[in-house]
Amino acid sequence: MKRMDERSGIREIKGIGEKAEKIFQKAGIRTIGDLLHYYPRGYEVYEAPVSVGEVEEGHTMTVSGAIYGRVQVAGSPKMQITTLYVKDLTGTLKVIWYRMPFLRNTLARGGVITLRGRIVRKKDGLVMEHPEIFYPSAKYEQKRDSLQPVYPLTAGLTNNAVQKAVRQAMDNMELGEGILPKSVRDSFGLAEYAEAVRGIHFPEQREEFYHARKRLVFEEFLLFILSLRMTKEQEDKVLNPYCFREQEAIGQFLQKLPFELTGAQKSVWREIRQDMTGIHVMSRLVQGDVGSGKTIVALLAMMFAGLNGCQAAMMAPTEVLARQHFENIRGMLSEYEIPLQAELLTGSMTAKEKREAYARIASGEADLIIGTHALIQEKAEYQKLALVVTDEQHRFGVKQREALAGKGLYPHILVMSATPIPRTLAIILYGDLDISVMKELPRNRLPIKNCVVDTGYRGKAYAFMKKQIQAGRQCYIICPMVEESEHLDAENVADYTQIIREAMGRGISVACLHGKMKQAEKDDIMEAFAKNEIQVLVSTTVIEVGIDVPNAAVIMIENSERFGLAQLHQLRGRVGRGKHQSYCIFMSASRSEETRERLEILNKSNDGFFIAGEDLRLRGPGDLFGIRQSGIMDFRLGDVFQDAEILRSASEAAKALLDEDPPLIKPENEPLKKMLEQRLSTSALETTL
Ligand code: ADP
Ligand code: MG
Repeated sequence: MKRMDERSGIREIKGIGEKAEKIFQKAGIRTIGDLLHYYPRGYEVYEAPVSVGEVEEGHTMTVSGAIYGRVQVAGSPKMQITTLYVKDLTGTLKVIWYRMPFLRNTLARGGVITLRGRIVRKKDGLVMEHPEIFYPSAKYEQKRDSLQPVYPLTAGLTNNAVQKAVRQAMDNMELGEGILPKSVRDSFGLAEYAEAVRGIHFPEQREEFYHARKRLVFEEFLLFILSLRMTKEQEDKVLNPYCFREQEAIGQFLQKLPFELTGAQKSVWREIRQDMTGIHVMSRLVQGDVGSGKTIVALLAMMFAGLNGCQAAMMAPTEVLARQHFENIRGMLSEYEIPLQAELLTGSMTAKEKREAYARIASGEADLIIGTHALIQEKAEYQKLALVVTDEQHRFGVKQREALAGKGLYPHILVMSATPIPRTLAIILYGDLDISVMKELPRNRLPIKNCVVDTGYRGKAYAFMKKQIQAGRQCYIICPMVEESEHLDAENVADYTQIIREAMGRGISVACLHGKMKQAEKDDIMEAFAKNEIQVLVSTTVIEVGIDVPNAAVIMIENSERFGLAQLHQLRGRVGRGKHQSYCIFMSASRSEETRERLEILNKSNDGFFIAGEDLRLRGPGDLFGIRQSGIMDFRLGDVFQDAEILRSASEAAKALLDEDPPLIKPENEPLKKMLEQRLSTSALETTL
């Protein structure tokens, strides 16, 4: 009996009771439909075991060997570490698990064991960290060469539980046709819905996965483009309700700045002024490579609105960035005696602080408001919001942008992005915006010097950093990531920081920054780093967006092979922001030809647009198994760079659909229309969570 459908609650699944339901809900899974679209973030391929002598740092590998000596448990009660040694003819490997003291009993029998885990470098050499256990070893043979889905997990949710639930759901329901009209499926050679769902969760071969993924990515892009087109229809050509005059104070401000605007900054500022004084409200995207000086352009636009008696708001994707913009802007307003008040509004402020900020925003006392998502919360009411700026837009969806715009009466919209998406793609993704490009860097910059090295170079790299620090500079180190769990991530950064501390020696202050830290703690560290009280900042990719510390001159990126080119370029953009010669060290444990070729592109070029183009060219279908994502706009499966071809097809399909049946009322388009309506009606706030 097929009795479930996509709208059924997940309690319908056998084995999911009240408690499990709560856990699934935390991961956003409420219905069977949510479950089916809870896609794996990768697949494990259980390849042949290697010998102990062959293990390589930075890789996930399988080793088969004899349990050697006794299993030991040490560490603090909160963080017990279980240690085991496995031995084969080529050597002995240390293996550790976190918080699993019971393994001591399980593994006490000794004998042959197979372990699959990541090889990392610890103080005492190469170690296999937190591996999956196959004991007895025959259990591994059953999984050999199969693709096993790996789901994104939250506390309490196990991979096994998700896998089981998905299987049961698929066995107990008719999947139906999905939302794509057959004509579209046929013209673009896309998989049937049922085929796609099965293939994304449980592909038997790679081809099946590619085929499934292509359909689902296409669907995701198509919905995005259609909803963009449909909202655009309503908002096309809104008349400019503001009557702004030229402001002398801005000219004076520019005169007093210690630098001259670049040609690109000047021309974008001219465009913005024309937009804001034109017949229609502005909707403009400014694409400027990292370090091209977007903030000052945004500030000019905000001052323009402020001096004309209105408010301007700027939304940044992280608290750290919002605070940095705020401090920066407040400082400039006071230094250059601009009679405007800056206000900060972020989620981590105390209730009292927020209340006071809300009051100043509502009364109009605050002119330029800088913040995070908190800016679009219900309680934030503006007196006269005439300009909305979103910084590093790729982190925000169209919905958030619109929600902020909804706080005013047709405000001007300015979107800043450091992501050099090729123009053809930008037109598809930002169809509703005019696009300006800032290709020029400020003249005082020296090009960043790059090098790609293997892990044997580490000692030299540390010595180089020490020398730079002695010369007064600061350094970033981007830490190896472990995606398996956030907890391990934090563990790794802490461990690694200790290693760096020892390598740097006395007198050099080393601190670490990772996603699991409390906001206040992160802010303190960033502030101390900005003041050069900290010389080396070891961090996960949380520093990726927008941080501006011009005195930082070296960035070393560990495991660079695990990042997309675009992301590496963003990371590198944290240095080379001042007058000092800056350096970027790409550290890579991988010896593959492909990795070398990719990193070589960064080595050769500091031009984001060129890099993005090369990234597109180099990415083959084989890349889809990696976890690398460009991180541009949060699509669930699709990746704007990687899936550029699918994006183009989806755009073509959207155009054809709307040309032929603009209101999408034909029967075959009905499921699509329904889905769109559902999406457009979900409140903007929901999507921010
Ligand atoms: P991004 O475009 O990456 O957001 P920022 O706006 O943070 O870059 O600017 C990077 C740094 O360059 C800042 O310290 C800023 O003060 C400085 N800067 C901006 N414009 C110029 C310019 N025309 N000449 C020199 N320095 C500039
Ligand atoms: Mg910026």
